[in-house]
Amino acid sequence: MNKVLEVENLRVSFHTYAGEVQSVRGVSFVLNKGETLAVVGESGCGKTVTAKAIMRLITTPPGEIKSGSKIICEDKDVLSMNEKELRCFRGAEVSMIFQDPMTSLNPTMIVGKQIAESIVIHRELNKKEAFNAAVKMLQVVGIPNADKRARQYPHEFSGGMRQRAMIAIALACNPKILIADEPTTALDVTIQAQIMELISDLQQKLGTAVILVTHDLGVVADVADRIQVMYAGEIIERGTTNEIFYNPQHPYTWALLQSVPNLSTDNKSNLYSLGGTPPDLIKPPIGCPFAERCEYCMPICKEAEPAVTKISETQEVSCWLKHAMAPKVEKPKILNKNI
Ligand code: SF4
Repeated sequence: MNKVLEVENLRVSFHTYAGEVQSVRGVSFVLNKGETLAVVGESGCGKTVTAKAIMRLITTPPGEIKSGSKIICEDKDVLSMNEKELRCFRGAEVSMIFQDPMTSLNPTMIVGKQIAESIVIHRELNKKEAFNAAVKMLQVVGIPNADKRARQYPHEFSGGMRQRAMIAIALACNPKILIADEPTTALDVTIQAQIMELISDLQQKLGTAVILVTHDLGVVADVADRIQVMYAGEIIERGTTNEIFYNPQHPYTWALLQSVPNLSTDNKSNLYSLGGTPPDLIKPPIGCPFAERCEYCMPICKEAEPAVTKISETQEVSCWLKHAMAPKVEKPKILNKNI
């Protein structure tokens, strides 16, 4: 597969009065052409900061992408781009949709014009042609009466339609990569499914690679090719969707899977909830960042950072349980893809 994006040893910090918060701590991964990579983890694990770093949307100060970090998009070094190069890069190469379409759309401008604006920047069309192209994009993302809708304001759209409009803006210039940051969090469950289906359909039609950032493993089961689980600014497990759902190796991945409701969940029983809180990233722990919340924690876990163990060609995990000397533990009954 051809890679479209390579992130290597990405480290991002935020300088606060309390100290330097190390939000992303040495993240590396590759995104291949046309695939969907899900980045999963709870709030504050660094997944959105990673996505924003790829778009070069980290505000400096207080943010800082640390030296030694590398983001390469089709042979272009994203971290050394100047403002002019970044304007071409955003939209034409990589686009992003955010979780709340209401705050991402301009409430004072009709939707068609907002889509057309991004088209004018990246394609050689005049304003009228760009507006017509915007109407076409609204049709592509499944908005009925697109010609009329293009002349309406965001407040005249439902939540699902606003997210469709955001997707239209993001895909208007046919980017190679679409980053979707919790794209369905603010939507009803039925609309969530429609939006995920739309992203997946468009990806197949346009060949766009997608990075899907979410806290909800249930959202990614049917759409992701690969999954990366993040915790405390690090990737702690990665694998194909099947590997993560059917053969997960890290206790945190087990906890995430146990907390997803499925069809066999008894409606009288409580869903699994993971106790404790993630570590303070101003002073990250020396050993495993999950140690304080892990029921399998061993003395070594608090003394040294777990090495990465390869489970297969595509799956790897950072956990001392995979060490040859570690005691064998029985995995909890993990939920599967019937969610
Ligand atoms: Fe738990 Fe230790 Fe594995 Fe960390 S390294 S997840 S503390 S068993």
